[in-house]
Amino acid sequence: MLYRMEGIVIRGTDYGEGNKIITIFTPTHGKQGIVVKGARKPKSRYASLSQPFTYGDFSFYKSGNSGGLGSLNSGEILESYRELRENLDRAAYAAYAAELCDRAVAEEDASGYLYHQFKACLTAIAEGKDPAIVLRIFEMKVIQSVGYAPMLDECAVCGSADGPFRFSPLLGGAVCQRCRHQDPQALELMPQVWKLLRIFAAVDLRQLGQIDVKPPVKAGLKIAMRRWMDHHLGMKLKSVHFLDQWEKLDELPLPTRRPAAITEIPAENPE
Ligand SMILES: [Zn+2]
Repeated sequence: MLYRMEGIVIRGTDYGEGNKIITIFTPTHGKQGIVVKGARKPKSRYASLSQPFTYGDFSFYKSGNSGGLGSLNSGEILESYRELRENLDRAAYAAYAAELCDRAVAEEDASGYLYHQFKACLTAIAEGKDPAIVLRIFEMKVIQSVGYAPMLDECAVCGSADGPFRFSPLLGGAVCQRCRHQDPQALELMPQVWKLLRIFAAVDLRQLGQIDVKPPVKAGLKIAMRRWMDHHLGMKLKSVHFLDQWEKLDELPLPTRRPAAITEIPAENPE
């Protein structure tokens, strides 16, 4: 059967001689795996269509059973997101967002909302918006879409709206002073972090304006979201380790960043 749909390349694997298997994230059919014959040959018209983060229109043959791979018939690039591949910093964040989608979305999922959030996430990073904030918002969208959104306005244990709260991934989000003994590891967050978490839960990435968040607040957001993701999704993502190493370079006093352009998602944890 011939399918045609738009999608974004979230993964690519070499396959056989000169071929590639790409995974695209689509608004209507979740993830789809497609074999692109000759994609790694220099003259292939589909070499650039198969690049990570490429947004395109894909037409492919696939037999009825789900789980099988499709075979590309034709395709067209709608937006290459070249900016994401040519800058290692942006590529690292985009790879992390793509890997989150890969883990959170199943084949044939109708995940239009998350798809559009992902696309907006890539656009925001490509436009130079602070990727550390864009990614925190996208993480919130991912956990909302899989049904693990934290309670932020009232205590997740007793329902009290009286703060101050601590943040407990174990108990489901905000916990009040009376309940917090149930999780001694609950985090104390700065008021600005709480405020931004609530904004992140409500915002649509497609409407994101300019953002300017101070480093300590950013650090608080990162810790809160990472703890939440680890607890609820148990994701051991390759790109997280890469990103952590990469962000650490930011904290070094010397300009040690490697200037580089990459054309592939960093495939392995560099440790
Ligand atoms: Zn309570």
